[in-house]
Amino acid sequence: MSGSTSARSTALGEGVHQIRVPFPGPLDSTLVYAVQTDEGLVLVDAGWQSDQAWAGLVEGLAEIGHAPADVTGVVLTHFHPDHTGLCGRVREASGAWIAMHQADYEAFDHMTAERGSGWLDAQLDRFAAAGADAESLEQIRAEGLGAPPVDRSSRPDRVLGDGARIGTGGRSLRAMWTPGHTAGHVCFALDETGIVFTGDHVLAKTTPHVGSFVYPLTEDDPLADFLASLRRIRDSGLVTAFGAHGAPIADLPGRSDELIAHHEQRLLDLIDSFAPGEELTIWAAAARMRWHRPWSELPAMGRHMALSEGAAHLRLLLSRGVIEPVPQSDPVRYRLVPTPAGTAPGAATSR
Ligand SMILES: [Zn+2]
Ligand SMILES: [Zn+2]
Repeated sequence: MSGSTSARSTALGEGVHQIRVPFPGPLDSTLVYAVQTDEGLVLVDAGWQSDQAWAGLVEGLAEIGHAPADVTGVVLTHFHPDHTGLCGRVREASGAWIAMHQADYEAFDHMTAERGSGWLDAQLDRFAAAGADAESLEQIRAEGLGAPPVDRSSRPDRVLGDGARIGTGGRSLRAMWTPGHTAGHVCFALDETGIVFTGDHVLAKTTPHVGSFVYPLTEDDPLADFLASLRRIRDSGLVTAFGAHGAPIADLPGRSDELIAHHEQRLLDLIDSFAPGEELTIWAAAARMRWHRPWSELPAMGRHMALSEGAAHLRLLLSRGVIEPVPQSDPVRYRLVPTPAGTAPGAATSR
């Protein structure tokens, strides 16, 4: 799908425009989609909260003949600040409603309430519960860990359930709950066109982050959710997708399978990193996984994210019965469940 491209926007056809809203960081921009529905102009996501990002959004809307005041509503794929940041400003300018899945609405509330002086201490307690050594904790304390810049002025005023529709008749967006990247992540299908906006659930090049942030491990199994959500979107019949970062996705089923295979390989690598009988904390297991930089060179925020991702992989191995917690260990250590001789650990796992 191609159309005319201006400085900030691209016409994708079917009354859909992509607006590139600047985002500081390696992802460069958040891709906001402006969709003409029969309820009016709806934005899918809104971009990072900054004056530069706001100028980019305003410029993109102007290129397609609109102003922020024309926006009827904003649907959010998830609560991360590069998606929700500008919602409040859009609502201020237009009176638009803001809608998000219930689970992310709760996460958003939790995040905005949690900010403040206690943030770093709370994180350090979590890292200690995951098995971080004193030296690492000191390093992280010295370096600091910025609280996520989630802005309360962007608080949604509507919640969306799976299957909810924005608009009726010929031009409606349908919410597809795809938990994993966050618990309340939603993709939006524009059914009549066969295209879907995948937020951070499926991206063309980037592997979306999937993390478990509570240590020791809890009932939540975000990686299991993510893989199930990938199978759901793969089998949806939708082929052309637009993510919130990077290039369009021409083969959504193929890209979904790539992401599933990527995580299955990481799970196998993680199993291999345990020596027989060896007991590892979440911290120690995460330190052995492959990251874009060696674990010892990751900055505090990088470790925070890597630790959560390691924990999500361990959690799924626990669900699959490949590892087990060591009784009475504190911080909790995990070990491989002994398998009958000749059986590779994980070989009997199901997808
Ligand atoms: Zn995200
Ligand atoms: Zn994002």
